[in-house]
Amino acid sequence: MDAASRKLEFISEDVVDYALQIILDEITIETATPKLPSPLQTASGLLETASLVLISVRSRCGIEGHSYLFSPNEALLPAIAQSISVAFEEVKGRSCLPELNTDHLLKKFKLFGGTGILTMAFAAIDMASWDLLGVALKKPLYQILGGTEKILASYESSGLSIGHSSQVIAQAEEFLLAGNSRMKVRLGYETVEQEISILTTLRNELGNQIELMVDYNQGLSVDQAFERCSLLDELGLVWIEEPIAADLLEVAADLTIKTKTPIQLGENLWSPVEAQRALDLHSSNYLMPDVAKIGGATQWLRSAKLAAKRGIKVSSHLYPEISAHLLSSIENAHYLEYADWTKLQFAGHISSQNNQLCIDDAWGVGLHGF
Ligand SMILES: [Mg+2]
Repeated sequence: MDAASRKLEFISEDVVDYALQIILDEITIETATPKLPSPLQTASGLLETASLVLISVRSRCGIEGHSYLFSPNEALLPAIAQSISVAFEEVKGRSCLPELNTDHLLKKFKLFGGTGILTMAFAAIDMASWDLLGVALKKPLYQILGGTEKILASYESSGLSIGHSSQVIAQAEEFLLAGNSRMKVRLGYETVEQEISILTTLRNELGNQIELMVDYNQGLSVDQAFERCSLLDELGLVWIEEPIAADLLEVAADLTIKTKTPIQLGENLWSPVEAQRALDLHSSNYLMPDVAKIGGATQWLRSAKLAAKRGIKVSSHLYPEISAHLLSSIENAHYLEYADWTKLQFAGHISSQNNQLCIDDAWGVGLHGF
């Protein structure tokens, strides 16, 4: 490799030299479907289990790196696993530099096209490679990425499903007991009056110290979105997330202009190019790429950098374990989305407390009990 091609964006040159010696050799792919601690009803479907693909990559010298992918559909787990296996064959025998390998995979599969399950497969290999690099260097990932902050501002996103107000309030009270007063409420009720009633009841019952963001999970028609967002505008929400179909970026831009409350989106962007398009169109006030759908930690960091150039704050979407490290390393970090979906899968899962998640000092990402 020549000197020019070794100038990578996110790791220093001495780390590059070291990583070049670590050769990817083997992969193990398993699936698991742990129950969610509490089922989640969104405007676009019910989730009762976390359907996971668990990935371990090994280097020739026996160092392991781990990652996982979440699938909203359990029946697709074998297809995701197969895609990872096929993609890994293309990086097997190469050094474990995630930035180079992600670009290599995008190039190799250009004819297939790079969105959907295949992009998530690239992400799985990318995330596991970053973890492996951390283990090899005996450092937490955020330190390799130049981050210094191990305590991240977070919000609770484990529940507050669409449902009866008494259930929503009972769960919000549980969050408050752990000191988590910042939380996300799923919307998409039949009427906006029901939604306003839930949100005002939460405020009345739990006090004004709670900070609420809401998520429609793409559940509204365009007309409904303009009507409902304007009616929610007086409630002092942190943001309104994905009110309409994720690919309607031009409409989202119009909605962003006409709504006082910040609009949030990004979990359904599939590459930094798509993130750039959303930014160019001013489709939202904030951005929250999903580390798997955007194509891995490398692509997430690239997207966050694009947002920083526009002064846009970036939050994470799910995957709290690796997302904490990524947020720690960027200048425009906003909030970490904390969801407890992997709590029953990984021993040593770290929960959020007092609106914060604290990274421990484990090497790599720190996915304990894999
Ligand atoms: Mg969302």
